[in-house]
Amino acid sequence: MSQTATSRPEIVIVGAGVIGVCAAFELSRAGHRVLLLDRDEPGSGASSGNASHLAVANPFPIVEARSLWQVPRMLADRTGPLRIDMRYLHRITPWLLRMLWQLRPNAWRHSCRGLRRLNDGSTAAWRRMLARIDASDLLRVEGSLLVCESAAGERDLRADVGKCEDWGVRAEYLDADGVRAREPALSSRIRGGLYFPDTGRFLDPLQTVQQVFRAAREAGCEFRQTDVSEISASDSGVRLTTGDGALEAENVLIATGAHGKQLVRQATGVKVPLDTERGYHLMLPGERDRLRLPVASSERRFVMTPLTGGLRLAGTVEFAGLERPADMRRARVLGEHAERMLEEGISRDGEDTWMGFRPTLPDCLPVIDRTGPGGRVLMAFGHHHLGLTQAAVTAEILRDLYHGESEPAIPVAPYRLDRFGTPARGKPETSNPGTRTQGVVNES
Ligand SMILES: Cc1cc2nc3c(=O)[nH]c(=O)nc-3n(C[C@H](O)[C@H](O)[C@H](O)COP(=O)(O)OP(=O)(O)OC[C@H]3O[C@@H](n4cnc5c(N)ncnc54)[C@H](O)[C@@H]3O)c2cc1C
Repeated sequence: MSQTATSRPEIVIVGAGVIGVCAAFELSRAGHRVLLLDRDEPGSGASSGNASHLAVANPFPIVEARSLWQVPRMLADRTGPLRIDMRYLHRITPWLLRMLWQLRPNAWRHSCRGLRRLNDGSTAAWRRMLARIDASDLLRVEGSLLVCESAAGERDLRADVGKCEDWGVRAEYLDADGVRAREPALSSRIRGGLYFPDTGRFLDPLQTVQQVFRAAREAGCEFRQTDVSEISASDSGVRLTTGDGALEAENVLIATGAHGKQLVRQATGVKVPLDTERGYHLMLPGERDRLRLPVASSERRFVMTPLTGGLRLAGTVEFAGLERPADMRRARVLGEHAERMLEEGISRDGEDTWMGFRPTLPDCLPVIDRTGPGGRVLMAFGHHHLGLTQAAVTAEILRDLYHGESEPAIPVAPYRLDRFGTPARGKPETSNPGTRTQGVVNES
């Protein structure tokens, strides 16, 4: 399929996860001609099965220097909270070393500041978006608990109050009675915990994406289910190779979650160190009314979130790349952890397992940028554990970048692509832009 310059879409968004869909809504609402592409149904990637937290109380990168000593113990347990697939070790080692390098105090603080700025804007941005699509009831902001069962866990959580204060996160330490007053279903094994009043939860993350998607369609966004295998960009436009043939557009937004590495390289020449932390969930449809609030375990490192469809147990980090099959034992073991956390036994009737790919960069900051030849390549990926939380604010930043605001309300410097290499600028198009678009792949 070849299109003329006038009929070609103004902006093609590749990836209909929560990031791409929110961007599609925001840009369509602002009057732009948007075509959204995904090889699957909207929201069926990481965005469907996550823990559903509006996790604004978490501005911290996934690794901290003080918890490194726990890593060997975690790795020793195949179904523990952290696993590296030995067949993937050679691929992930350089990435892990880069992540360790980010533990230098200044680098770590830089990441915290970048995450915090996005988190600070997240609740208001989601409220604006949900109010516009008449779906405010999908989000509850009633707080969450992070609880502990051991004396060491208690010490750590008490110490975390100071860390939270330093980073502007509201957190209150509760003793065992205080925890159970907020969440009576928890086991008497729980010694205490932190209450984060600003955490929210979506009642169903997939339904949230689907409702934003419907609103984007109503605002004029088109959707096509197709795979995108190649993107090239020049000063005069972008060209995409899709499962349905070639497609030309004025601009492209790459929002492909953990899958965007090759596309970013083709479009900008930058080799971005994007990898995936695979995460799992176990859904318990028979446990709809067990908890009032989302509860996380500091020792077991998983969360329990009450959703419309039941209780979702989610978490774990597995480095095994995008290709290897899921190991659903990692999901099922979460049921055993929940048994220990709750006072009464759980129903596992109709339980369902799931694995998804968190898109993660070594500094734990996403890429949110407009770059490439003629500024035609927009990007939003790498939101790791916080993609649902930060989707609406990311969409607002993208809208501002697209409108050419020199600096959106949240400064984008920490999220720029050029922290990983210099994007190709491209050359003016010399051939007929309607028939051929020049690629700018820079293999250096
Ligand atoms: C277990 C778990 C728990 C989590 N809990 C939370 C939480 O509580 N709160 C929170 O904020 N975040 C959480 N996250 C993280 C969050 O889910 C992700 O950061 C977020 O979903 C990423 O959204 P995305 O749109 O970037 O990616 P995705 O949802 O993966 O979407 C990317 C889309 O791009 C499409 N795509 C990719 N490549 C191509 C291609 N070449 N052509 C066409 N289409 C393509 C895919 O099909 C997919 O639909 C959790 C993640 C996991 C795994």
